[in-house]
Amino acid sequence: MSTFVDVALPAAVRRQFTYHVPDELESKVQEGQRVWIPFRNYYAIGVIVRVHDQVPSFKTKPVRKVLDEEPLLSKELLELTGWISKFYFASWGETIQAALPAGLNFVSRKYLKVSDKVDTAKLNSEEEEIITELRENKTTLDEAKKRWKGTGLNKVFNKMLKSKKLEIWEEPDLKVSVSTEREWIWAEGRTADGAMNFLDSNEVNESLKWTKALSEISNLIPIRQSDLPDDPLFNSYSMRKLQDEQWITFREVDKRSDIENLEFDPDSIKTLNDDQQQAFEKIGASIQNSEFANYLLFGITGSGKTEVYIHALKQVIEAGKGGIVLVPEIALTPQTVSRFYRIFGDKIALLHSRMSSAERLQAWKDLNSGKKKIAIGPRSAVFAPVQNLGIIILDEEHDSSYKQMDPAPRYHARETAIVRAQKNNAAVIMGSATPSMQALNMAAKGKCKMLELRNRHADAVLPDVEIVDLKQYKGKAMKGEFSASLFIAMEEALKRKEQIILLYNRRGYASYLQCEDCGHIPESPESSVSLTFHKRKNLLMDHYTGYARRKDSACENCGSPNLKVQGSGTQNVEEQLESLFPEANIIRFDRDSTSRKGAHERILKEFGDGKADILIGTQLVAKGLDFPNVTVVGVVNADTELAFPSFQATERMYQLLSQVSGRSGRGDKPGTVYLQTRQPENPALIFAKQHDHRGFARQEMEFRKPLYYPPYSRLIKFELKSSDEQKVNRAAHTLKRSAEQVVPDLPVLGPSPAAIPWINRKYVWEVTLKIDTEKGGTYIEMLLEKVMEVYEKASKGKWSSVRVNVNVDAIQ
Ligand code: ADP
Ligand code: ZN
Repeated sequence: MSTFVDVALPAAVRRQFTYHVPDELESKVQEGQRVWIPFRNYYAIGVIVRVHDQVPSFKTKPVRKVLDEEPLLSKELLELTGWISKFYFASWGETIQAALPAGLNFVSRKYLKVSDKVDTAKLNSEEEEIITELRENKTTLDEAKKRWKGTGLNKVFNKMLKSKKLEIWEEPDLKVSVSTEREWIWAEGRTADGAMNFLDSNEVNESLKWTKALSEISNLIPIRQSDLPDDPLFNSYSMRKLQDEQWITFREVDKRSDIENLEFDPDSIKTLNDDQQQAFEKIGASIQNSEFANYLLFGITGSGKTEVYIHALKQVIEAGKGGIVLVPEIALTPQTVSRFYRIFGDKIALLHSRMSSAERLQAWKDLNSGKKKIAIGPRSAVFAPVQNLGIIILDEEHDSSYKQMDPAPRYHARETAIVRAQKNNAAVIMGSATPSMQALNMAAKGKCKMLELRNRHADAVLPDVEIVDLKQYKGKAMKGEFSASLFIAMEEALKRKEQIILLYNRRGYASYLQCEDCGHIPESPESSVSLTFHKRKNLLMDHYTGYARRKDSACENCGSPNLKVQGSGTQNVEEQLESLFPEANIIRFDRDSTSRKGAHERILKEFGDGKADILIGTQLVAKGLDFPNVTVVGVVNADTELAFPSFQATERMYQLLSQVSGRSGRGDKPGTVYLQTRQPENPALIFAKQHDHRGFARQEMEFRKPLYYPPYSRLIKFELKSSDEQKVNRAAHTLKRSAEQVVPDLPVLGPSPAAIPWINRKYVWEVTLKIDTEKGGTYIEMLLEKVMEVYEKASKGKWSSVRVNVNVDAIQ
């Protein structure tokens, strides 16, 4: 009986390929290992997802090589990636790729090997020369090409490749190296005593900088470069001089991860207050019983959710298990990490995108071997190979960064965490001060248990929120984008040497129309989504349904002719600030200013250390920051969020306001939040002012239910892209018809141009399906496969240049 393996490849094809296993590899193959296989007319690396003995109806090719001794992916993670590929309609191989650190991926290097079929006796002398060299040294294809290029042997070499006397083999390539730093040590024959004697002798000129440096450093040696005191005495000049004088030298040592520098003090774990204790006991019971349970920890900002996470994790560790803590990427600050590190020390492995591939690979290995027990990281840490998983915590459960948009797999970490926890009989804690409608809906349906923390710890108060009606501030009462009341508050805070955080949004492309007299923003009659203004066509458009009309000439709410286009080309608020407050130090914090490694931490540290007075930025400033000296928080224009063309705009804005409000008054000084808007009666603003999430959620659900929006349905979005506008338009219409043909009464939105209709030289159109939330992965996979099949038949290759991306749960 022969053995077969189904192999997943890291390509967009949603199918596996079957190979047979040659006898000599029979005992080696296991699910989750990488293999080297012939594919079309080359070779490829794939992952075995199934070992079986079902003879396929076609002739199979053999597995050439097994690349891992042990499976890279445990059975559990293999199943999880399999589920994702079904539910989110991605390829299994792509999903596996997303779950593994770059260093363990499908990267390979091509080596040359002399074919077994070569008959050495029949070789000519030139061929023999090449073969001898290749047998002596393991040579990559690139090296060999370089080696013989321009020599007399080049022709022979190429001929041997063609005739397969030389075969090209691939091996996985780690492609990452561990980063190192210098450790300063005494040079040969030198010691601290020697240095002292030298410094005490008369020949020394004590005023020389390097002798001072020697005197200081002799107490410190051996010392890492990163541990050298931050003192000009140890600048590169004096370090070089000390080497030239042959006192010190260095060796390269592995860099320590940043977190090893944090403080470890497990006894500092806090005693929970009554509310926290109650919540913890419920979670603790599930952990004790090793049963799957899903908790929504609904606690206002500052109520101590993090303390509950820490106690739950502690219990997990004491039970001999491990845990995962997911945080929004941007909230993964040293502040957050240090709270966990203090209690769990080096049981923690940190995973995030600003780490080098080598660091991430190391963290992955430490978790996989069980050396580390807790993974902390953003979305992708849901795949961390934590052994004996006991808990997954999602902090800020509502955060949009938990959904991967591009590339595939377009998974959501919340749903993935729940599925993974189920497979492991583990607990899930979804924590938030502003739970998503999904989480609240789960709670309402009994799919998770709600635990509440209603008060800030130690009765700290929530800040005052003042809604500033911009309609009331005309002419002199406005200083650029700032109303007199925000301006004065800022001026006074600066006088008191307190700090300010300002939030402004630069969603430049979403222009919208707004009435200057009543603040009204036109909405689509078909979807209740804000209409986007398109200047080129002078149209107001709905990006969900494709509805469009000419730009209004009068306000549909109050009849005023004073309609103003807003949103695009936002003034440079930073420049305005500089001229309004020339004395103040201002730091900008957005994607541009934080893209470099370490910039994010540096900016926050500078602000935290009081080196700047005003921090201005996009949504990023709203998340998880804790600066006790901040007493004024300003939202420059809340309406840009409201006008965002999505039914989710109100929720996003509400969350943003709640979070940004949580930034003010965290210390003992009271804080005030100023929300500038032209819609002061907007209920979302009022709920945010009153810190009333329940009220907001109730209203939001009432709005969504009759429109059959999530959480009452799932949205599956097809995104079609092409450089040919005609083709993408026709393809989108065909796709809609295909969907309607497969399920006649399926609600389909669109086709319509996307909210960003033209990106990277491609036109983008969308078609969105609404399906029942109860439908699982198998249904979704079948449905989408059928739709794509009908679509491809109907389009008969006419639009093969149109790319179709599928995004399940595209918007929640
Ligand atoms: P959340 O995560 O809900 O925003 P945190 O866990 O950050 O809240 O708590 C806010 C502040 O209150 C933190 O400084 C935290 O250390 C403190 N705190 C919370 N619970 C306790 C407790 N039980 N004992 C002492 N301090 C606490
Ligand atoms: Zn109006």
